[in-house]
Amino acid sequence: MKKLKERILKDGKSFDGGILKVDSFINHQIDPVLIKSVAMEFVRRFGNLPFTKIITIEASGIAPATMLGYLLEIPVVFVKKAAPKTMENMLVSSVYSYTKDRTYAICVSADFVTPADTFLFIDDFLANGNAALGVEDLVTQGGAKLLGMGFIIEKSFQKGGALLREMQHIQIESLVRVKKLSNDGIEFEED
Ligand code: 5GP
Repeated sequence: MKKLKERILKDGKSFDGGILKVDSFINHQIDPVLIKSVAMEFVRRFGNLPFTKIITIEASGIAPATMLGYLLEIPVVFVKKAAPKTMENMLVSSVYSYTKDRTYAICVSADFVTPADTFLFIDDFLANGNAALGVEDLVTQGGAKLLGMGFIIEKSFQKGGALLREMQHIQIESLVRVKKLSNDGIEFEED
């Protein structure tokens, strides 16, 4: 996605350890016009699949997922990173965070993940695939189906892309794939 690549080159910052900071348009301040283009591109890539709901994980997946839910006119469920005291009937899994170097619990109410649902998972980054696998586990626990996974940015030098693409029943799409992050700059895979 050309517009997204240009924005990453203009405003993204790469850090040691292969971290890309996109705080000024995705992760802290949000550019809704860019996120709208991102959501429209997801519609183009996934529009033919029969999703009943979108699922994402708090916090940075919520904006693109909501924009996409608006365009597809389907509900958006966001997985929580801490269990609220009021949540009953909870499905729980765990995720190792690469950026924070710790394992945390994720949860979602079984009221919103049911055997009648077919999900599209949306997230900001795909790195090692741990968040995606945690959400896939929650969807499976709820008896629902996961038909697609869409990421705004995939870091193709990490193992998540290869790992997830082994699950051939799930359509995986990344809008840009970053192959190298260094002090000299950011390099993308050719599409
Ligand atoms: P994974 O679970 O695939 O290893 O990592 C994906 C999650 O970690 C994403 O939800 C994202 O929040 C975070 N993440 C991974 N790599 C990066 C990165 O380079 N930059 C930012 N901002 N977040 C990242």
